[in-house]
Amino acid sequence: MSNILVTRSSMPPMQEYIDEITAIWDSHWLTNMGEKHKLLQSELKKMLEADNVELFTNGHMALELTIQAFGFKEGSEVITTPYTFISTTHAIVRNRLKPVFCDINPNNYTIDVEKIEDLITDKTVAILPVHVYGNICDVEKIQQIADKHGLKVIYDAAHSFGEKYKEKSVAEFGDVSCFSFHATKVFNTIEGGAACYSDTALGTKLYQLKNFGIVDEETINGIGANAKMNEFCAAMGICNLRHFDEEIAKREVVYNRYIENLEGIQGIKTNRSQENVKYNYAYFPIIIEPSIYGKTRDDLHDLLLNNGIGSRRYFYPISNACDCYSKEYDANDTPIALDISKKVLTLPMYADLTNDIVDKICSIIKGQVIKE
Ligand SMILES: *Cc1c(COP(=O)(O)O)cnc(C)c1O
Repeated sequence: MSNILVTRSSMPPMQEYIDEITAIWDSHWLTNMGEKHKLLQSELKKMLEADNVELFTNGHMALELTIQAFGFKEGSEVITTPYTFISTTHAIVRNRLKPVFCDINPNNYTIDVEKIEDLITDKTVAILPVHVYGNICDVEKIQQIADKHGLKVIYDAAHSFGEKYKEKSVAEFGDVSCFSFHATKVFNTIEGGAACYSDTALGTKLYQLKNFGIVDEETINGIGANAKMNEFCAAMGICNLRHFDEEIAKREVVYNRYIENLEGIQGIKTNRSQENVKYNYAYFPIIIEPSIYGKTRDDLHDLLLNNGIGSRRYFYPISNACDCYSKEYDANDTPIALDISKKVLTLPMYADLTNDIVDKICSIIKGQVIKE
């Protein structure tokens, strides 16, 4: 058997993509908000039930420019989670703001809403939570806290594309939700991202910031970046979106196969879909308790690798433990996130993963159980 990677990008049938990009050869319009860009934007608006959608080159720029668009005063504080992909933290720091790390809920790995208020100071301007692995944050409590203290809420929704909570699209929570359409995500545009928001004034800023701050030929009124999604990426998105429901249905099969196989293994905890959530099966994380399972997370990672199976320590290290932040922060201040980061392993998860391979992965994991 050839090596199995932890993920595998979904792609439409090749002919479908060729058909989609043929028009680009007629128009010679390759980027700068062309037809494909506009079409994907309107399709996503429907699909995500969002008031407005702005497309970007990638999820990181969606997040970074969204934070910039609010124009927070330099040095202001943003309460966030260290248990995320480093992009979340960098997006704050690159805006000359200060991340304040809040610990996580050990059950779903999202920000612990009981600990947010203790971290609020007169410098706090926003809360930036992450829907980790597609687990939806406690959006109601977060909004309540934000309203009480006059804070903005910006969701890093990179893992939660296509999800709903209590019948409401995940794109509708907070002031803005930022998605990633990177090749490894459940829905991809090769590289890409989007911000969903309701305030149209904010939208004007986002549009300008992704295009150098240009307002018109003679007016540049913001220090913008270049973060426009190009036509080829948008075309990939249009095609992948047509297959999205199929994609999720196949992932659900993989998820169920894992759950069946791993049920009852001592020292291995799986991530269960939440109540009231239409889940997207984006990742398959397991938490390994070495004292019960008998092997550490790193042991299992290596064992799988020796059997041709890739897995990922995701997220490890957590943001406040990374070299670029560990001088300023102490990861022991967020002990739950630190502990989980040492025990988590995400297993291969993608639509075309076969039952045979899932069974093989699970039998390797089961072989490690210490007999009592
Ligand atoms: C993927 C990801 C990002 C960044 O998205 P890109 O499209 O890769 O720039 C940000 N946050 C989280 C949680 C992610 O998983």
